[in-house]
Amino acid sequence: MSRWAYAFGTHRTDGDATMKALLGGKGANLAEMTRIGIPVPPGFTLTTAACNAYFQGGGRFPTGLVSQAEKALASLERQHGRRFGDPNTPLLVSVRSGAMFSMPGMMDTILNLGLNDRSARGLAESSGDARFAYDSYRRFIQMYADVVLELGKEPFDKLLEQAKRRRRVTRDMDLTARDLISLTERFKDYVKKTTGRAFPQDAKKQLWGAVRAVFRSWNNDRAKIYRRQYGIADSLGTAVNIQCMVFGNTGEDCATGVAFTRDPASGENKLYGEYLINAQGEDVVAGIRTPLPIRRGQSAEYDEESLEARMPKAYRELLAIRKKLEQHYCDMQDVEFTIEHGKLFMLQTRTGKRTGRAALKIAFDLHRSKRIDRKEVVRRVDPEMVTQLMAPEFEPAALLTASRDGRLLATGLPAGPGAATGHIALTAKTAASMAAAGKPVLLVRAETSPEDIGGMLAAEGIVTSRGGMTSHAAVVARGMGKPCIVGAEALEVDEKDRRVRVGRTVVKEGDLLSMDGGRGWVLTGGLEPQPSEIQESVLRRASGKKPKKGSSMLTMFERLMRWADAESGLSVRTNADTPRDALVARALGARGIGLCRTEHMFFGDDRIAAMREMILARDEEGRRNALRKLLPMQRRDFVGIFKAMDGYPVTIRLLDPPLHEFLPTEPRHFRQLAKDTGRSVEAVERLVEQLRETNPMLGHRGCRLGLTVPAIYEMQATAIIEAAISCRSSGIRVLPEIMIPLVGTLREYTDLESLIRQMAGAVMARKKSRVRFLVGTMIEIPRACLIAEQIAQHAEFFSFGTNDLTQLTYGYSRDDVARFLPEYIQQGILPGDPFESMDPEGVGKLVATAIDGGRAGRKDLKLGVCGEHGGDPASVRIFHELGLNYVSCSPYRVPVARLAAAQARLSEGGGSGTA
Ligand code: PEP
Ligand code: MG
Repeated sequence: MSRWAYAFGTHRTDGDATMKALLGGKGANLAEMTRIGIPVPPGFTLTTAACNAYFQGGGRFPTGLVSQAEKALASLERQHGRRFGDPNTPLLVSVRSGAMFSMPGMMDTILNLGLNDRSARGLAESSGDARFAYDSYRRFIQMYADVVLELGKEPFDKLLEQAKRRRRVTRDMDLTARDLISLTERFKDYVKKTTGRAFPQDAKKQLWGAVRAVFRSWNNDRAKIYRRQYGIADSLGTAVNIQCMVFGNTGEDCATGVAFTRDPASGENKLYGEYLINAQGEDVVAGIRTPLPIRRGQSAEYDEESLEARMPKAYRELLAIRKKLEQHYCDMQDVEFTIEHGKLFMLQTRTGKRTGRAALKIAFDLHRSKRIDRKEVVRRVDPEMVTQLMAPEFEPAALLTASRDGRLLATGLPAGPGAATGHIALTAKTAASMAAAGKPVLLVRAETSPEDIGGMLAAEGIVTSRGGMTSHAAVVARGMGKPCIVGAEALEVDEKDRRVRVGRTVVKEGDLLSMDGGRGWVLTGGLEPQPSEIQESVLRRASGKKPKKGSSMLTMFERLMRWADAESGLSVRTNADTPRDALVARALGARGIGLCRTEHMFFGDDRIAAMREMILARDEEGRRNALRKLLPMQRRDFVGIFKAMDGYPVTIRLLDPPLHEFLPTEPRHFRQLAKDTGRSVEAVERLVEQLRETNPMLGHRGCRLGLTVPAIYEMQATAIIEAAISCRSSGIRVLPEIMIPLVGTLREYTDLESLIRQMAGAVMARKKSRVRFLVGTMIEIPRACLIAEQIAQHAEFFSFGTNDLTQLTYGYSRDDVARFLPEYIQQGILPGDPFESMDPEGVGKLVATAIDGGRAGRKDLKLGVCGEHGGDPASVRIFHELGLNYVSCSPYRVPVARLAAAQARLSEGGGSGTA
């Protein structure tokens, strides 16, 4: 028979901290704490396997569970000298959920189980404290009715409020025993009235009801949403912990609290926490009373009410336990405790969640005290935390208050972290003019296009109502390191009336708006963001200024990055289109450019006219004339970028988007264009219409454009080689890599390769100078993955464009995916956004196929990735395993990718570097 119950207690402890998968985090750590001599009330854990068996059995307990649990319960009765269900001195237990990964507040808990009318009376007599007995009973009835009978908390909260009003008191603790007795009667009456049945009096029945409810809570909506968000598998199930109660609500020498062994916000090496006297369980987190600080100095005005001042003995014990736990787990812990008549009991320990700053400080403090080695420091910091260190932030408390005050307007996909407040601008033009007038601006649009670039640059942050994580807005904003929220579908952006609607709420252009890009929250009104020191230092360095003497946080950040690089097997490059971005990325540790999207270079005021002239030219001669105007500008662009990346490779992609993206959409622009090109307005409109495509992403773009309008690529190849020669002559080390986009057939590649080489040859002959350069291709079309061996016999490098590869593999439009993706994820049809984190089964398999083929075609083929996945830690791990040479990502993701690359390599070795 399977084993479903595992005991913990001084008599016997079956589990330990390694058994989280089976016993859940809480159960495994209760066992571990017991083993190392920390005072934990005894109990037993029903396994996660029991939960899964319960579901497989259609809601029936698996064979053996009841008998094993009864045996474990009998052992608790013997240890405690009390009987479960006894009318005089009852054994009471708590029933708590606990999955392998912590899911705070997502599942259910019941305290004081085992009480009924008779035993409550018995408890009052045996403890000599009727108030305590009935306080425990009313809490139990409420929790049981909520969790097991599914009646909700609110009706009971209302009855409690009524009782307090009648007594003219504000605090629960001021209700007398008599008040509580009558309250329990009201609670039970309510249960009887709504369910038609009396509140269950049989302790065993109560227990099985509670166990069933905790199992069920694994599948409640909030638990499911939480699992989706954090990538926790539905198949894990929850364990159930049944544990002897200790009471924090049985007098003024009793208390309950939660604490972190270090400050979770700053990482300071001091106990940090809150507690309440004469209270139980959830009271501290539920905000029923304002909890008090644990330590003197934690919140100066409450020093004399701190646990340290009020219960010094228990406080000292807590300090000793803190030390023991940190020694043992070698990391910051998040604990729950109860003090019963001055005696301290620990009810939970787990690794504490922390901010980016705290993560860094704690890891380095542990290293300094020789508890962990360098590798472990690198392992300990979550790469996503690094973005937190670089982005301006809102204070969490201020944000929470604002959202509670009804200021949360909409939520969307968190495309770029960081906080921003500004005046709403609905077009790029107004954004630019408002910013020029000195106003901070948030650009709010249905979606953005390359034409909006000026407005995006001018804005503090960008919000769109449409689009996914790789939509234009998301990619460009992330590249700029700006906060960005996309796909905030609730926003109806009405550009014409200059307003944004969400249901009945209307905000106007010019109104203040705030956004938290890390959470995906859009809020009405202003909030004050705090600039990050690390970002400031990077920007100073990028603009050639000497960095100011930094705080220890900056020093730690830089050291962490150096240590990460020493472990990494992947080089990290950046996606950058301007010298400025390239310099920022270099300051963040990029070793080259993996993707320079040349199309972004044609939107400046001085270029767009020549570009449009080229597109609408009457003949080849007209086209070449326009391109001649663009050539020196392109050359200047490349010189700037080569200079910024002196000594590092620069991959330049030839023009990729369809031509109509460069054409105007508004009538007044048509008139200007007609004037510039000497055509009639009607003719311009007709030509623009002709260029429009039904499916432009699958249309006349990339290499298809290169082959049918070769003059464009000829100009670009010429500009690249001329720029390289000119840079080299001034001592800059240039390593250009010319990249052809959207290749799907061998001839597409070979024809364009010879065109590029021919142009390069002509320039070198003319300049009487040679530069080394590579020619290679994007791999972003599934067919290219399948014929990679043939292509690699000609191409010198592959760069995986996983944005388009994902789009074409799934057949999901990357710009419209937000319409159904959230629902797909919610329904579990997809585990997450494949544009954010690479799909290992489909897209990953195509990448692997292309790598095998590519290496078979050319041994020394250079392999990189330049899709957005290059900055996603989970994808970076796959790229490392697949053996790529580098990943390339937007500048502000570079440190994330560096850390993720190091962790990917370190995780191969296994083990940990704790002392
Ligand atoms: C890609 O498709 O992954 C890519 C990097 O190119 P773009 O995003 O410009 O289409
Ligand atoms: Mg692409």
